[in-house]
Amino acid sequence: MLFIALGFVLGIIIGWIISASAPPEVKGPVADWFKAFGDIFVRLIRIVIPPLIFFTIAAATASIANARKLGKILALMLFLYIITTIIASVWGIIAATTIAPGVGLNLTSQQPPPTPPSGIDILLSFFKPDFSDLLVVGGAMTMIIFAIILGLSVTFLGDEGRKIANILSLGSKTMVSFVRLIMYYAPVAVFMYAAWLMIKYGPQMLGAYAKFLGGQYLFTLLHFLLVYSIIVWLGGLAPIKYFKAQTYPFLIAFTTRSSAATLPANMEAARRMGVSDEVFGVTLPIGATVNMDGTALYQVMSAIFVAQLFNIGLTPFHYGLLIFAALVGSIATAAIPGGGTIMLAYVLAVMGLPLEGVGIMLVIDPLADAIRTAINVSGDNACTVLISKFLGYKLRS
Ligand code: ASP
Repeated sequence: MLFIALGFVLGIIIGWIISASAPPEVKGPVADWFKAFGDIFVRLIRIVIPPLIFFTIAAATASIANARKLGKILALMLFLYIITTIIASVWGIIAATTIAPGVGLNLTSQQPPPTPPSGIDILLSFFKPDFSDLLVVGGAMTMIIFAIILGLSVTFLGDEGRKIANILSLGSKTMVSFVRLIMYYAPVAVFMYAAWLMIKYGPQMLGAYAKFLGGQYLFTLLHFLLVYSIIVWLGGLAPIKYFKAQTYPFLIAFTTRSSAATLPANMEAARRMGVSDEVFGVTLPIGATVNMDGTALYQVMSAIFVAQLFNIGLTPFHYGLLIFAALVGSIATAAIPGGGTIMLAYVLAVMGLPLEGVGIMLVIDPLADAIRTAINVSGDNACTVLISKFLGYKLRS
């Protein structure tokens, strides 16, 4: 944890120095090298994501051994995930309308309004057709469904199934230990990414983008500090303990910009907060894939920002539609760097706003992605604490 924080601070300082002093022809290649050493980490984690999700969810499902209890966890989880995402979207509306980062720029759009993907497309994207689809990060949702059904099938085998349940649980432990090994590299990756971010995006923190980012960071952090404090407090945990444990995954998420890559660190934090494996083994892998408060807040803010840039007025009906679009958009967002901006195309399409907005937002995406990913993973853990309390589990101290 200390090394992660150290890597982060050092990366920012070194990046800032290089950004301020090196000539442009040196800055580019240096930034690329920093990024490459960060990418190694994310790639190693991405490799382990499908087996990690498979074993943790299947093992947790098989060990719960009671379909009703599992149903309860899933129902509570979805309820909390949806409520917190809607709250985040409302923050996004308040942020974009009060700070108004795009007002007065009067851009004009060249593209015709896009057609949004249909509800059927989105529904079926959760159920990929081939087994090989489960093995890529984009197929995580289908992998989750597969693992839950597999875990349930094991419990239906009764005593005979115990052997398989044990193998799944061993597999899950092996994956955790695999991840622990990779994690030794995390401080280096955090340093590399932080430096790259500063060199590449330091100068962009000016003008309308600065206003956007300032508002996004402010309200996203407000959501983190306020909403999650209340949630963990309701869950019987002192907020300070949550923030202490959450700092580690927060920094990993902030620099890797991937909820999937942060899953192991988030699990470690849940363990530290004393949450039972049975609960977080289900809620965190699913949360990493579907629960993205930071992304919803960002997509709402971005859509309003784009409307402001192009001088398009929005009515209360639009705001309602936007909250819904961001809920679907954030659920469908892949837990990888930039996933939220790719799905921003969907949100803009639903709203009938110019698709050029995606290109405009891409310019500052790594900066905007850092904070939204950090909050995405933090929300999963806050909800997990409350779910655990509702289900009658005691936090281990
Ligand atoms: N990078 C985010 C995540 O992994 C998704 C996004 O781009 O909003 O949680």
